[in-house]
Amino acid sequence: MDFETIIGLEVHAQLLTDTKIFCNCSTKFGASPNSHACPVCLGMPGVLPVLNKKVVEYAMKMALATNCTINPRNVFARKNYFYPDLPKGYQISQYAYPLAEHGYLMVEANGEQRKIGITRIHMEEDAGKLIHDDNNPASYVDLNRTGVPLIEIVGEPDIRSPEEAAEYLRRLHEILVYLEICDGNMEEGSFRCDANVSIRPKGQKEFGTRTELKNMNSFRNVQRALEYEVKRQQYLVENGEKIIQETRLWDDAQGATNPMRSKEEAHDYRYFPDPDLVPVVVDEAWVAEIRAGLPELPQARRERFVNEYQIPAYDAGVLTSEKALAEYYEEVVKLCGRPKIAANWVMGDVLKFLNEDKRSIRECPIAARSLADMIGLIEEGTISGKMAKEVIADMYATGKTPRGIIEEKGLVQITDEGELAKTIAAIIEANPGQLADYRGGKEKLFGFFVGQVMKATQGKANPKLVNDLLRKMLAE
Ligand code: ADP
Ligand code: MG
Ligand code: ZN
Repeated sequence: MDFETIIGLEVHAQLLTDTKIFCNCSTKFGASPNSHACPVCLGMPGVLPVLNKKVVEYAMKMALATNCTINPRNVFARKNYFYPDLPKGYQISQYAYPLAEHGYLMVEANGEQRKIGITRIHMEEDAGKLIHDDNNPASYVDLNRTGVPLIEIVGEPDIRSPEEAAEYLRRLHEILVYLEICDGNMEEGSFRCDANVSIRPKGQKEFGTRTELKNMNSFRNVQRALEYEVKRQQYLVENGEKIIQETRLWDDAQGATNPMRSKEEAHDYRYFPDPDLVPVVVDEAWVAEIRAGLPELPQARRERFVNEYQIPAYDAGVLTSEKALAEYYEEVVKLCGRPKIAANWVMGDVLKFLNEDKRSIRECPIAARSLADMIGLIEEGTISGKMAKEVIADMYATGKTPRGIIEEKGLVQITDEGELAKTIAAIIEANPGQLADYRGGKEKLFGFFVGQVMKATQGKANPKLVNDLLRKMLAE
């Protein structure tokens, strides 16, 4: 039987505010357990939450960047469940009236561009962390994360393959990081994804029963978990078995998903509007202000790079994958005026060095100015492309300027015609046999003469000049 895959993703992103969503505890990661907790986030009786305005602004940024409509009035609701990592016994979230709805993202996968709908974006608080002791029959709770602001981005079941799911996530992640509202760290859980997946026979209208996958901490694992789950569901259907709606956990080592719990229905949460918080009213002026403050987004930047700099879409994709990298590249281009050559050096040597050292572009020892200067030195013939390879490695290792390195190493290319002609004349004179054979038709010997010149000049002669002069002088 031919099946179609249906995927809908729910993404939680931690917002980069200094303080929590309803109290002024710090959101800093890695502090000693329970040191960032107060009566409000501990859920003591009688306390009142106060909404952090920054959270609304950050959420609005994401909503606008993903083409959502912002609701002029949105309401916080209590989602009731009892678990020790949320001492209040409920999570403050949004339900019937979320901050924003009806957005979309354009996603390219498998050579096809498709529009993936975004159902809603709402604000909520994160829960704490439970730590289970393997050696003792004990569990501990760290409430530092309780009340850290999140946005949940609920996607429509529009995704049709695991590859497309991973691409959609990359685009979302990229936007959040560009907006500087989330650090995007998947391993620390600042960007988490639950993946809902079902299959149906091709041509069938109704969706099949879905399962929800959790615990994938990289784009690759989201894709792997979905691939596994699609196969598992197909196997069940083909063998006449039923798929049960449940939450399953991805096990990285095992490369498989395992059942965790049967999925709650919305009515199990007994949502109701939180009486402690007033509705959030967002007027048009506020929306306009946030919209005006949005930076250029990655997709727009990619298109601009292709148009303005005439570089291939592939290059533009790599160079805009990170905001700081795009800025670095643009700085180099501004200074040297050679977009394609700059793209090659940044994507080639610079990124290679950084990747080897697991460094970000922000930590790059090669200043944009230095790279631009180096490109200029090649263009004017002071150094050859081959010498530049050596120079850039040194620039990366020492942070020195290209001119400094060239002087230090005596790397200047020989471009003086008179000087080079003398060297060539001496070589021709010293090799009468080869000269006669060359003139007699053994054209291959041209390479021999080039080699001799390069040897005599320790590789510093300008290759083009060597070629031109040799041709002329060998013929004379
Ligand atoms: P819940 O409240 O249980 O999280 P929702 O109806 O809000 O459920 O849907 C959650 C996610 O599941 C959404 O991202 C949606 O796109 C996706 N989804 C819903 N139905 C299906 C389905 N049959 N197959 C795959 N994904 C689905
Ligand atoms: Mg859900
Ligand atoms: Zn607090």
